[in-house]
Order: sequence, then C-alpha cells, then structure tokens
Amino acid sequence: MVIVMKKGSSREDLARVVRAVEELGFHPHVLPGIERTAVGITGNPGPLDPDAFERLPGVARAIPVSQPFKLASREMTPADTVVRVGSKAIGGGGLFVIAGPCAVETADQLLESARLMKNAGADALRGGAFKPRSSPYSFQGLGKEGLVLLAKAREATGLPIVTEAVDEASLELVDEFADVVQVGARNMQNYELLKRVGRLKKPVLLKRGMSATLEDLLLSAEYVLAQGNPDVILCERGIRTFSRHSRYTLDLSVLPAARGLSHLPIIVDPSHAVGRSDRVPSMARAAVAAGADGVMFEVHPAPDKALSDGRQALLPQQGADLIAQLRAIATIVARKVETVR
Ligand code: PEP
Ligand code: MN
Repeated sequence: MVIVMKKGSSREDLARVVRAVEELGFHPHVLPGIERTAVGITGNPGPLDPDAFERLPGVARAIPVSQPFKLASREMTPADTVVRVGSKAIGGGGLFVIAGPCAVETADQLLESARLMKNAGADALRGGAFKPRSSPYSFQGLGKEGLVLLAKAREATGLPIVTEAVDEASLELVDEFADVVQVGARNMQNYELLKRVGRLKKPVLLKRGMSATLEDLLLSAEYVLAQGNPDVILCERGIRTFSRHSRYTLDLSVLPAARGLSHLPIIVDPSHAVGRSDRVPSMARAAVAAGADGVMFEVHPAPDKALSDGRQALLPQQGADLIAQLRAIATIVARKVETVR
C-alpha cells in the first residue's frame, strides 16, 4: 500500500503515518515527490485496510499496490527515478552511454579504450575485473589489479567506472573502486548479493538474467531497494529463446513494458545480446529509438586478441561513430515513453 499525503500536510502528519505503520510491525518508506510526499508500506503479509490510514490527519489517499515488487513499482512511485553517476544522470530524458572493454586486461588496452571513448562523448567506462565466465578455463579477470587499472583510467579521463561484483567477497573490493556496481545476468537472482548491494551508497546496474521475466527482474531490483539503496539501473542484455542466429535475443519490447510497471531507469546492452560486433550498432540504435535511458557496449583496441568477448567488441573508432549516431537519434526521438498507470 502507498499512503499519499495531502499537499501542504505537516511533518507531524508524516511522522504520525510512519509511526502508525511501524506500530503494525510493517516497514514505512518515505517517498518524497515533487508534487506530494508518500509513504510506501512493505512487510505486510496481506492486504491492508485503506480506511485505517485515510482517517489520519494529512493523508489524501491510501492506495493498495497490486504488484509484488512494491518499491520498484510505478504504482508506489509515479515519477521516473533519476540516478546520478558522476556529474551525469541516468533517466529523466537524457541518453547515458557506457563503453569499454569486456574485461580489463592491460593498462594500455584499458587506457586506450578509455581515452577514445571519453573523446567520443561516452559518459562512463565499463570493464570487468571479476569475470563470470561460462567455462572455468576461460580468463576470469585480473581481480584487484584490474580495479586499480580502472581507477587509473578514471583518473586519466574523468570517466566514472562501471564494474562487476561476482560475489560477496569481490563486492567488498569493487565497492572501494567502482562508481557503479554491476550485478551480472548470472547473478540477477543471487539474493544475498542483492541484499549486500542494497546496503551500498552507490548506484547498482542490475542486468536481466537470460531466463528472467520482467517481473523477476523487478523483484530482484526490489531486493536492492528494500535495503535502502534507491539507485537501481535496470539493463536488458538479451534472453534465451529458440533463435540460433544470435547469442541471445535482445528483448526491446521490455523497454515500454518496464517503463509502464516501474519508475527505474532502464538501459540496453546490445553487445552481450547479439554477440557479434557487426550486429551491435543496429541494435544499439534500435534501443535508443525505443526509448532506452542509456546504452552499454563493448570496445577493444585489438578485438582478435581480446581475452574475453572479442567477437562482439567494436573497435574504438567504430564505438565513437556509434556514439555520434546514438546522440543524433536521441535528439529526434521523444525520450519519455507514454506510461499507463
Ligand atoms: C558483462 O557485462 O561484462 C557481462 C558479463 O554481461 P552479462 O552479465 O550480461 O552476461
Ligand atoms: Mn563481455
């Protein structure tokens, strides 16, 4: 349930509502808005009686929330969430571009990618120091050394860094270096990891699992939000279907659906979806045209020597050309997709 306060209600009114929720043994979440303040309730095992709250002074309405993901739902928070990363924002109408190698390999490989992407107008640098690989024999990432190189690249370019934590141990290290912590597709349902990132004070990029529904993704986001971290960025990166022509199937239809159900920003990673560099640009452009709040793609200065995902890496110059195209598309496509409430 979400309790919407009247315009001009007092702080005491709000505190009274919060107390009333706590006295019932449930969790109140104060949700400040431009128009009005609301209090979301979680932790109630069944439906609540709206009358019990509508009787309290300063309360405009008590609205039941029908979705299982309460804090992630647009029912509870109608306005789009804007997540700040460095001096830029994800959500709220702009286009946020994250580019960089799949994995951090060497200082030169990372710095060259970072410098070229910075000059091309990227907003953040990606690169994995901990790599979740399908095969245990594949390159697993440089670990802490990779994080140190990312920090150096940030220093050299000013680009904030997006990097993945694969478990609770790596999260401790990643938290020391990252501007945005990535939770990968394979960990989308690692609930203990989600609870831990929910206690961080930094944005979380949550990638959709390859066999997860939108509802599964939003419930995973809910784990993070319920721990008090409001800065969740959703990411579509392709799902498994019966198609064999592509690494995964990029589900762009999830964009308007997510926007209808949730206030959280959503970006698209075409690289992991299509798995081939020649197919990345068209899907990136389609994502922006479909209203994505951002795009994340992989680049590598020498894709055929890459230690992971070389086949899907764009050359930095191709990445730069793509960014210019994406910015051009963003200016002609309405960034706000109609929402149904
Ligand atoms: C990545 O972005 O580096 C990655 C491993 O992607 P995913 O979790 O989507 O497979
Ligand atoms: Mn990759």
